[in-house]
Amino acid sequence: MNSLIYNIPAAMAANFPGQDLVIRSDNSNEIAKCLVTEDLRRIRYIQVLDIREDPKPIMNAGFGIPVDLLVRVPDEYGLLYDWASLLPNHPMRVSVPVVEGARKVIKLAASLSFAVKLEVLQPNSTQAEEMLKILEFYLHSTTLAEPIEYFHSILFSFFRHEPKTLWEIQEEDPSIYCRIDENGRKTPSRRLPWNTPVNRANSFVHDFKKELIAENNDCSRCEFIDHCVGFFKLPIHQYNCKTMKRLFQILRDTAEELRRDIDSSSLGNGTGK
Ligand code: SF4
Repeated sequence: MNSLIYNIPAAMAANFPGQDLVIRSDNSNEIAKCLVTEDLRRIRYIQVLDIREDPKPIMNAGFGIPVDLLVRVPDEYGLLYDWASLLPNHPMRVSVPVVEGARKVIKLAASLSFAVKLEVLQPNSTQAEEMLKILEFYLHSTTLAEPIEYFHSILFSFFRHEPKTLWEIQEEDPSIYCRIDENGRKTPSRRLPWNTPVNRANSFVHDFKKELIAENNDCSRCEFIDHCVGFFKLPIHQYNCKTMKRLFQILRDTAEELRRDIDSSSLGNGTGK
């Protein structure tokens, strides 16, 4: 037994006794059944793959278990109001692919006090612009109470000088997460081929960084390699991540500004070191 977190279809929950799980399904009743029959201590969260499902079966099952709701089609964002009924019993997060219109999902989710996770692969120029606007909303909204990931974790990683990689934040680090597909096959990360050997998966991020540095390519010269580790260069190695670097830069500048503000207010209060 190892400490991997397995992201599995709900129907396979019984096949992973004793393991930490993320249970996913497009069927609320199937998820609710797992929340009744499985040991809740090992369920990290549940993932609802279809926002059009009825939230009621989950409302009173598995009290306190976080719910991640995937919103694939931005125009369905009005259905978030139905899912807000779960908030008294479950921490809620919305996962949104970076597509045109993602911002309206995020703004409503934020106003309902849902956390947000951006599902990001290799955004095209329109999607990258959308990310810049989402970042602006994250940094400047005065009403935001919950994080928007990955921005939030990267901002605080810069602020605290504690390197955290996008692989970990986006739950794609194969040494932490293992996805089981509908055929029962292990997939170390959605960014990697499903048949990447497990021993390589365990050290993948570390090895990949070494490879990138040795290759003397775009990543080896990138000032954000410690946080990104080539995340945006898969699956297409030639991807131009100019805007992704801009996002990192804004987050780093904001973190530095925050630190300066805190330092100067500490000095002003006579509590500076
Ligand atoms: S931002 Fe781009 S160049 Fe920099 S490490 Fe990430 S993928 Fe490589």
